[in-house]
Amino acid sequence: MHFKYNFYIYRMKAQVADLNFELLISYDKIEKRIKALAALINADYKGRTPVLVGVLNGSFLFTADLIKEIDIPVEVTFTKLASYFGGISSTRKIRDDFDLTINIKGRDIILVEDIVDTGNTLHYLIDKLKVREPASITVCSMLLKPKALESTINELKYVGFEIENEFVVGYGLDYKELGRNLRGIYRKIS
Ligand code: 5GP
Repeated sequence: MHFKYNFYIYRMKAQVADLNFELLISYDKIEKRIKALAALINADYKGRTPVLVGVLNGSFLFTADLIKEIDIPVEVTFTKLASYFGGISSTRKIRDDFDLTINIKGRDIILVEDIVDTGNTLHYLIDKLKVREPASITVCSMLLKPKALESTINELKYVGFEIENEFVVGYGLDYKELGRNLRGIYRKIS
């Protein structure tokens, strides 16, 4: 039983619903990169108390791991948007599932995203939050697909890993709501 559990954590391949995936980024690499991102945030926001806004669902693990490495005072809250609706490519429709519950006027906001693909979701969210007059907005995304990005996002200051234009699951990211519990990030092979 113990062996089986370890095998699941470190496996190189994974089947999620009807698709097959292979390991792209191990959890060891993710952990190291998160420490580096948090070090940048600790330095950049020294003397301030930023609000980390996790964008659900995909960023729940990343937000949790990131906040543990931040050693300046920080608040955390969540908002929920959906743009993929269970497929493997963007529908370009964004659904607002739930809004922030705090007043962000005058606050330094760090949006925590799972992945930036076309960038449409992020543009939508940034425009929506800017109206509420925060002191600043930056974005920390675990993944970025530079070749899919349709326009520059000036606020995108912290990026974990740049990846090719391919569909990935794991570490919070889903396919048909499954695969979020995989420790590493896996890319679709068939
Ligand atoms: P964008 O608006 O930048 O095109 O898409 C952003 C959202 O699409 C992400 O927050 C995520 O929910 C979803 N997404 C984009 N690429 C992928 C991917 O490779 N895998 C998964 N699971 N979701 C993705």
